[in-house]
Amino acid sequence: MTALNITEPSFDDTELTALKECLDSKWVTQGPMTARFEALIAQAQGARHALACTSATSALHLAALALDLGPGDEVIVPALTWVTSAHAVEYVGARAVFADIDLATYNLDPTCVEAAITPRTRAITAVHLFGLAAPMTELVALAERHKLAIIEDAACGIGTHYMGRPVGTIGDLGCFSFHPRKVITTGEGGAVTTNRDDLAARVRILRNHGASIPRADDDQGPWTMSNFDDLGFNLRLSDIQAAVGVAQMAKLERLISDRRRVARRYDAMLQEEQTLFLPIGGDRGGHSYQSYVIRLRDGGRARRNAVMRALAERSIQTRPGTHAVHRLGYYRNKYNLTPEMFDNASLAEDTTITLPIIPNMSEAQQDQVVDALCEALR
Ligand SMILES: *Cc1c(COP(=O)(O)O)cnc(C)c1O
Repeated sequence: MTALNITEPSFDDTELTALKECLDSKWVTQGPMTARFEALIAQAQGARHALACTSATSALHLAALALDLGPGDEVIVPALTWVTSAHAVEYVGARAVFADIDLATYNLDPTCVEAAITPRTRAITAVHLFGLAAPMTELVALAERHKLAIIEDAACGIGTHYMGRPVGTIGDLGCFSFHPRKVITTGEGGAVTTNRDDLAARVRILRNHGASIPRADDDQGPWTMSNFDDLGFNLRLSDIQAAVGVAQMAKLERLISDRRRVARRYDAMLQEEQTLFLPIGGDRGGHSYQSYVIRLRDGGRARRNAVMRALAERSIQTRPGTHAVHRLGYYRNKYNLTPEMFDNASLAEDTTITLPIIPNMSEAQQDQVVDALCEALR
């Protein structure tokens, strides 16, 4: 019996070759390797622009800045998500307003989004949680009707499709993560995708200290200093990280098909377990299975935790799905939220378990997870 992690990156000599190429070139900040990585992301997601940055959190921050969100503005965010989907809205002084999720998909329930819209609402953050696309048809219709922008939190969404279309440009901006828990990784890293030239131009300036075009009143040449009309940030990815990303992108299709293979086998092995809800595969199988998340039908948080403990005792790493963000101190205190609000997000936080999906996971390893789980459920 081997110890099983919740996931692992897939590294081989191709990352080392790309890293050596980068180091040999002596160009290690944002440069040619980042441009190559961006072109691969743009191609994979069918985006006109892909702009690399330090994380999905910084991508979300850049998206909020590019849309000019600020004090007085409200942005609707799912109550079940990684906390920085909401933090990014608050970074710019806008207010994160939560909406409940659909328990079948763990994504925003459009009816709850509609109910949360006020005259101050400026945008919706559509999270493609665990690699399953949010209901974009309904969300885009709402956004058009109420003149709202859509930020896609596609942190889990590299390789995710919605009705045959890659995510990231269905809304105004898409925000991707390359953290090691995601499908491909650069250690830390992220990207913003968009089809809008104006937003791409804003992101480009804001991730690079706010440096815009060279000053027109100065002597023109490579030495000309930039103008700084914006309070920008340094959120650039380094070419060292991008080199790993270039090698990782070459494996994207294989990594996704491998995850789908493992997920289908979990589905087949667990479908008889009457006490479990299994993840749904999404329209035309567009789920990337960044996480394979099951939910216990019976019992609450204590029982779920007991199941996770039983798996840990057999050296199998699991995690709860993710947070119900309205229960976290910052939001609870700031907006007087109570744990009973957002029933579905709360139930999902209490009763979900993420099972291991590891690249090249063997059937024996998967059997080990399923055997331990079924025993723990009994
Ligand atoms: C992982 C994740 C993030 C944060 O990504 P980082 O690259 O670690 O900043 C944001 N939103 C969701 C939904 C995530 O899963």
